[in-house]
Amino acid sequence: MSQCILRIALDTPLHAVFDYRWACEPGARPAPGQLVLVPFGRREVVGIIVAVLDETDVPVEKLKDALAVRSQLGPLSPHWLALAGFAAEYYQRPLGEVALPGVPKNLRLSTTVALDRAIKKLAKLDPGHDATPVDMPVLNPAQQAAADAIGSASGFSPILLYGVTGSGKTEVYLQACAQVLAREPDGQILILVPEINLTPQLEGNIRARFPGVMLATLHSSLSEGERMLHWLAAHQGQARIVLGTRLAILASLPRLALIIIDEEHDPSYKQQEGLRYSARDLAVWRAWQLKIPVVLGSATPSLESWHHAQSGRYRKLELRERAVQQATLPAVKLINLEHDKPRDGLTAALVEALKLRLERGEQSLLFLNRRGYSPVICCDSCGWVSDCQRCTAFMVLHKGEHKLRCHHCSLEMRIPRHCPTCGNVDLQPLGRGTQRIEEGLQLMFPQARILRIDADSTRRKGSAQEAFDTVHRGDVDILIGTQMVAKGHDFKKLTLVGILNPDTALFSQDYRASERLFAQLMQVAGRAGRTAQAEGGSPSEVLVQTRYPEHPLYGAVVKHDYDRFASALLAERRQAGLPPFLYQAMLRAEAPELAKALAFLQAARDCASHEGVTLNDPIPMSMTRVHNVDRAQLLVEAASRPVLQAFLKDWLAQLRDMKARIKWSLEVDPVDI
Ligand code: ADP
Ligand code: ZN
Ligand code: ZN
Repeated sequence: MSQCILRIALDTPLHAVFDYRWACEPGARPAPGQLVLVPFGRREVVGIIVAVLDETDVPVEKLKDALAVRSQLGPLSPHWLALAGFAAEYYQRPLGEVALPGVPKNLRLSTTVALDRAIKKLAKLDPGHDATPVDMPVLNPAQQAAADAIGSASGFSPILLYGVTGSGKTEVYLQACAQVLAREPDGQILILVPEINLTPQLEGNIRARFPGVMLATLHSSLSEGERMLHWLAAHQGQARIVLGTRLAILASLPRLALIIIDEEHDPSYKQQEGLRYSARDLAVWRAWQLKIPVVLGSATPSLESWHHAQSGRYRKLELRERAVQQATLPAVKLINLEHDKPRDGLTAALVEALKLRLERGEQSLLFLNRRGYSPVICCDSCGWVSDCQRCTAFMVLHKGEHKLRCHHCSLEMRIPRHCPTCGNVDLQPLGRGTQRIEEGLQLMFPQARILRIDADSTRRKGSAQEAFDTVHRGDVDILIGTQMVAKGHDFKKLTLVGILNPDTALFSQDYRASERLFAQLMQVAGRAGRTAQAEGGSPSEVLVQTRYPEHPLYGAVVKHDYDRFASALLAERRQAGLPPFLYQAMLRAEAPELAKALAFLQAARDCASHEGVTLNDPIPMSMTRVHNVDRAQLLVEAASRPVLQAFLKDWLAQLRDMKARIKWSLEVDPVDI
């Protein structure tokens, strides 16, 4: 027996790795990347070995013995450890806090799970080889060129697949996958989608297209058992295709050969708590690390990716036409709310258009922007509004449950019978949520089959899928929904999209709001007219209700002109010195009193030495109070990413040394400012 030192990452907020002793036969040393059980404080926890050493500076009397190396599970690869290491450094978090959550909980239990039994279950994922493959549709020339370009790319090749809605990007992904799978007999492909529940279509397509290929899925609604199974299938290389949401970017994929990120512009790729990473950015890094292609697909690419494509860092592949013959992009019309005053949220022009679709048996979709449009209760006589007692936010009316609810802290209360300030009994909802639109429509069109899809109506697991199935079956005439309905769906019978309230986003203080609004409008408009216009059917159209029809953003939507809009926005950003021409980080602090949070940020600002870095003044966050806690922020900016990174590293070490008794956190590349 001989001794070695295991350097181990543990899931703790401490910025450190920990050394333990381990006795083993010479030549039988554990490998970095193996899971290991160690005593930590009064507990026993599982960590990951990051290095195996002969000696350490830690004094001998402080060294404890590791308890067990989990050798049934093959080690995580050096590439994977490097990925976790990069993410930890870039986002300024401890390595263990990044790496351990990347491994399923069941493998991190202090008692060993019977891995062989687990592993046997993997057979369940095995699709078998008796299924017959579905024919690949013949690609149009633009699709074929794109699929070939991706399929034959080698080395680190970031590719922006810019294709209008309905241009058949999915088909391009699938055929590029087929080429890669055929060329690399062991190769694995990672496909990321913004929300797994909204894309069973894609999962179905993959299964039908690649019947002999094992597919693993990784997303947050799997049970722990399922998650372990799918994770192992990826880790052991059996799963050739892994489909998942942002968290799948940290999956262990020993033979990764291609990464595809569908709807790469989607904000869901950014994790908004804990390790606030961008799965898209990590994907590009991972592709760079492994020298493999990465495809970013979108009809409305993020300005970051568009900028890289324009500057030649990313290769741009374009699909300018819809894939289905005679399916044309819908005509977008602006309805001026000054001239056509809405009743129950709907203008006369939109009501007429709905009527026509109902007569013809076609589907319509009404889209509401959730932000700034939830119904709150207000008092006409004194101006009282239902604001939350704990947050800088309004409580939102949920009529079916007879409740007001705060969407930030979840505080609930009964709908008051009279105004708490003046006693007025006639309290009215202000603003029109999806529920009110639904009620108004049902009165207007009693025969119509109306379905509402939003976060409230789909809380139960699986209910979103049921709802979308109903739409696909054609059992719905009018679909009402929020952001959820805008993404990716291929609704075949939809010929009308009404956009009810887009204007609020025009005046947001967040400089990204117009980029998001544009993407959202193009996405939701793209749900219409996806099949050839039927004989005698209505041409597909999109009606946008707005008070600002002259706004250039709407002009660009009418022309389906992403290119020009993106160029104009980029020029603005360059001039104003905003990302992607500048790099940012946000330090946030929270305390029961605002002054304390601000004082901490001011102290942080004062202790910084900063060449090439700008530290702005600490300010209260726009939603200052949440759950009785006040929040403030300090924006840090630099023209160079390495300069910002180097600064943050030193600065955060200083901040940790301050040992301030206040909750604070840092976000690198923040998206909500
Ligand atoms: P996107 O993701 O670009 O919005 P989809 O991949 O959903 O577009 O494709 C839109 C529609 O076009 C789908 O119904 C798809 O089956 C169809 N489609 C794609 N490629 C072809 C093709 N080459 N021939 C016929 N139909 C196609
Ligand atoms: Zn609240
Ligand atoms: Zn009142």
